[in-house]
Amino acid sequence: GQVNNYRNTLQQAIPTLNNCRNTVQQGVQTPQLPGQVNNYRNTVQQVNAVAGVKPKGEYNGPDPQLAARLEKEILDTNPGVRWDDVAGLNEAKRLLQEAVVLPLWMPEYFQGIRRPWRGVLMFGPPGTGKTLLAKAVATECGTTFLNVSCSSLLAKLYGESERRVRCLFDLARARAPSTIFIDEIDSLCSARGAPGENEVSRRVKSELLVQIDGLNNSTNNIAGKPVTVLAATNFPWGLDEALRRRLEKRIYIPLPDFKSRKELIKINLISITLAPDLDIDQVARRTEGFSGDDLTNICRDASLSGMRRKIAGKNPDEIKNMSKAEILKIPVMMDDFLEALDKIQPTVSAVDIERHEKWFSEFGST
Ligand code: ADP
Repeated sequence: GQVNNYRNTLQQAIPTLNNCRNTVQQGVQTPQLPGQVNNYRNTVQQVNAVAGVKPKGEYNGPDPQLAARLEKEILDTNPGVRWDDVAGLNEAKRLLQEAVVLPLWMPEYFQGIRRPWRGVLMFGPPGTGKTLLAKAVATECGTTFLNVSCSSLLAKLYGESERRVRCLFDLARARAPSTIFIDEIDSLCSARGAPGENEVSRRVKSELLVQIDGLNNSTNNIAGKPVTVLAATNFPWGLDEALRRRLEKRIYIPLPDFKSRKELIKINLISITLAPDLDIDQVARRTEGFSGDDLTNICRDASLSGMRRKIAGKNPDEIKNMSKAEILKIPVMMDDFLEALDKIQPTVSAVDIERHEKWFSEFGST
């Protein structure tokens, strides 16, 4: 009973909090929110979560069962990644703020000539942080985030894949303002006549184009609740041309530069004890050409070395009885990194980077 009372009180507080949130949204003038506004927003999100409030808007579209299933599979209310967890990529963060986050926060401003981009594409070599950025967008937006992989859309049954795409967009509209994130969009929408193109992918592609066009019509804007499509690919040149045109903002996510590599190493080692001889600058200098994912693997490998040294030659009972506090204090040394650097090679080839840069100069946004 007491729990119910609490929940009721919280639910009664929601309208007040919603007002508070609206005020906050109207007051937001710059991408960098003042701390106080952020605090308000966090409070609203926390109270909503405790009171079990759905992310807004009940779904009354067709196929409610499919919508419920999709919602379970792809709705990501709080992936927990913040801008600061993503090293470097400041230009990409700025573009995403402007193209995705701000139109969701202040739809009144993004009208007419300022209408939001129909779709945003992040492209670049694998492991450079595209998915991480999408998750940061979701957390920072505090709005509905639908995280779609191709496997959740493609189905063998005739007509089922298109039905899923339609339902996905219906769901996004019901939960608007919202963002649909489609990872590895190339596997869903390869270019016409490409080897992977078959009947299903042709139909899915056409449905996706129809749905993206539909987002741009006036009802979407009248409701003042935009739905944005955010997509990611490691192979932008394989994308269907019609889809490329609809993904109007195309943001290049490159390999990390020296400064970003330093930042990334520091983020990865945040809760690890470091030996005084560890020279992060040197590690960053020696990892040119490594992706964020490669660097994370190096940090992971290096940070395990101390434990490997400690247990060498010990029997299982001795290992089990080692003091936990002592293990946690084992520092990561420069040698551990040098050893990891010998083992782990960069995964992205120079040819791949060249291809991305060429595509960026032809089709990319700045
Ligand atoms: P992509 O989607 O571009 O293939 P991901 O976003 O999935 O790459 O990145 C894979 C992993 O690499 C992440 O989970 C993270 O650990 C690490 N990573 C890559 N880029 C960054 C970055 N810029 N900042 C922090 N971590 C990164």
